[in-house]
Amino acid sequence: MSEGNYNGVWVLAEQRLGELQEVSLELVCWGRKLADRLNEELSALLFGDNAAGLASELSRYGADKVYIINDRPLMGYPPETYTEALSTLATEQTPGVILFGGTAFGRDLASRLAARLKTGLASDCTALEVSDDGLLSAVRPVYGGQLDATIINPVTRPQIATVRPGIIDAKPAKGERKAEIITVEPQPAATRSRTTGFIKADPKTLRLDEAEVIVAGGGGIDSQERFQLLEELAKLLGGCVGASRVPVDKGWVPLEKQIGQTGNTAAPKLYLAFGISGSIYHTMGMKDSKVIVVINNDRNAPFFKLADMGIVGDCHEILAALIQRLREISAEQ
Ligand SMILES: Cc1cc2nc3c(=O)[nH]c(=O)nc-3n(C[C@H](O)[C@H](O)[C@H](O)COP(=O)(O)OP(=O)(O)OC[C@H]3O[C@@H](n4cnc5c(N)ncnc54)[C@H](O)[C@@H]3O)c2cc1C
Repeated sequence: MSEGNYNGVWVLAEQRLGELQEVSLELVCWGRKLADRLNEELSALLFGDNAAGLASELSRYGADKVYIINDRPLMGYPPETYTEALSTLATEQTPGVILFGGTAFGRDLASRLAARLKTGLASDCTALEVSDDGLLSAVRPVYGGQLDATIINPVTRPQIATVRPGIIDAKPAKGERKAEIITVEPQPAATRSRTTGFIKADPKTLRLDEAEVIVAGGGGIDSQERFQLLEELAKLLGGCVGASRVPVDKGWVPLEKQIGQTGNTAAPKLYLAFGISGSIYHTMGMKDSKVIVVINNDRNAPFFKLADMGIVGDCHEILAALIQRLREISAEQ
């Protein structure tokens, strides 16, 4: 879409089993900033059939309007029907910007919607601004995190972006707020797929950029057997294992677990680093993590400069103690 008067910022909120996902509140905060800069309205869109409570939460974080799209007729999540519902609404309401979370759901839907509306998509963004000429200016890492690229779309509308979760601290907006709530009844679209159920992902198989907790090990771990203890800690914390390049080079973990310039980029809520020095090649892949805990026996290790919490000591002892304590806690429950 490219002609017409495009106005307003939209964010797609995500809920699972009636619970608003953290990324939704983050998106509302991103959207609020953009809408204030543009002096436009912020609308949150939410799929669900009984979502008034969730709508008031979105309002508290800064949404001016909440569209609740009744998804009962959409039969779970056949992507075609969700895309159809969103593209119909976007064609009617002509928002200037639409933001999605960089989650499996958001990435899937954003790319389908961009293709349907024949507009561009800036994916995996880590910062969003408004340029002086009123365009969405979306920043995303490129070349394995070595550079940041700024992406603008001056030609087609709406401007669509997916935003990496965990970058912004979601905080309620100032003052009393009461968003206008609009219920949308979409028409079911023809679909070639149907959802038969949802299975919670095993944290072990999660991609590093989707994990909320990462337990990472480096050259300070002295054997493959001890490295495997990281798996146990990750399991107890509901997270997954990551590594610096050293354990990968030793063949203890596959390359897809490597974090850093030549590995993955991740921004989990909690990043635990056992025996990792904090080389820039590693930290460029995880520096946006919310809480960083570093365990190293060298108090001058560079990683401590980035840490929210640092423990100077033997990483094997601390690993064993943490596992033991967490096992006790889970046995008590
Ligand atoms: C072009 C290029 C790309 C690269 N890409 C990546 C990348 O993507 N990811 C990456 O990680 N690296 C990458 N590297 C390698 C990087 O430069 C470092 O060599 C690597 O990150 C070091 O890993 P490390 O800190 O785990 O190991 P080491 O450098 O061996 O450090 C081990 C740390 O553990 C501590 N330690 C030792 N024993 C213990 C103990 N018992 N208890 C507690 N602490 C202990 C030490 O004090 C030390 O700080 C790249 C390098 C280059 C040149």
